Amino acid sequence: MNHTSRHTQAIIDLDALVNNYQYIDSLASNSNTIAVIKADAYGHDANEVARALSSKVTCFAVGFIDEALALRRDGINNEILILEGPFNQSDFDIAQKYNFILMLHSDYQIQWLNSMSAEFSGDLWLKVDTGMNRLGFPVGQVDNIISQLTEKQRSKLVLCSHFSTAEQLDNAKPLKQLAALKKLVSKHDCKFSMANSAGILNWPASHGDHTRLGLALYGISPIGDTPITQALIPVMTLQANIIAIHTVPIGETVGYGDIWQAKRETTIATVAIGYADGYPRNAKSGTPVFINGKVVPLVGRVSMDMITVDITDLANTVIGDIVELWGKNINIDIVARHSDSINYELLTRVSKRVPKVIAE
Ligand SMILES: *Cc1c(COP(=O)(O)O)cnc(C)c1O
Repeated sequence: MNHTSRHTQAIIDLDALVNNYQYIDSLASNSNTIAVIKADAYGHDANEVARALSSKVTCFAVGFIDEALALRRDGINNEILILEGPFNQSDFDIAQKYNFILMLHSDYQIQWLNSMSAEFSGDLWLKVDTGMNRLGFPVGQVDNIISQLTEKQRSKLVLCSHFSTAEQLDNAKPLKQLAALKKLVSKHDCKFSMANSAGILNWPASHGDHTRLGLALYGISPIGDTPITQALIPVMTLQANIIAIHTVPIGETVGYGDIWQAKRETTIATVAIGYADGYPRNAKSGTPVFINGKVVPLVGRVSMDMITVDITDLANTVIGDIVELWGKNINIDIVARHSDSINYELLTRVSKRVPKVIAE
């Protein structure tokens, strides 16, 4: 039975998504813009996002093969780059069969590759560690790794690395990382990919042959509000309804732990969203929400299924009214700041029980 009683939703604006892709792609017009749709497209529904972009994008990127297989099952035929590469030797067979590009980052993966009974004919990327110290071959080992590839594998090879501080314009590290990668690229005469969203926006020299566009695709800036990010449109609007309204006298408290106390007679609206939906439990009193054209503050603790907001200054607000938690009116960065989190985490933590609804 298909019945929705609660109206808590993440509304996904696919026109905004396409706008963001085309805008960022135009900023890096000499490179191929790969759309990163790991983690269910940063919580936006990977199948819907992939379908909306499939005619505009040559290649998608996901974290691991399971995510890529789900896209193939949904009829997505674009190239798919597997950012963390094979987790098993059999992942090479699957990659070949389904046309996935494998990123290789560790010796054990090279050993799997070399022990295959037939030459692996799919495309390969090598992850080089230029200073993130998380994943990838040390710069000094790359010659040796490349020497273990076949002629055919080398001919299509892409060298890849990842910035640790691309959002910091006054930091010298991003250009150091880029220089380390480019040195290997010229030595081996191959293609390269360095830039994530912040790299695309802040470091044009890093665009290279392929960029890897994640966060900004969803209309969220990794570098704050700047002229270059003004054209981005948030794709997700998280919203819920008011399910109760009551008046709280001076001195009374609201919610668990009695952490918020009314300093005036206060009208409280109770909204049907909580931390079990992915709204951050850490959100402090004062976190903004948007109701009927106005911004009002969260008060008291976030509960599992509900939050409470102060609507004393809102006239004509009634049960059933829609509350935007983040989206086009409430910048997710402000919610993140009020909850000791970051935009990436808030987006990817919207939980399964919140339906994703495609905007008309
Ligand atoms: C997730 C990811 C990206 C995308 O990063 P954004 O900051 O979201 O643009 C790019 N490259 C790699 C290796 C990633 O894991």
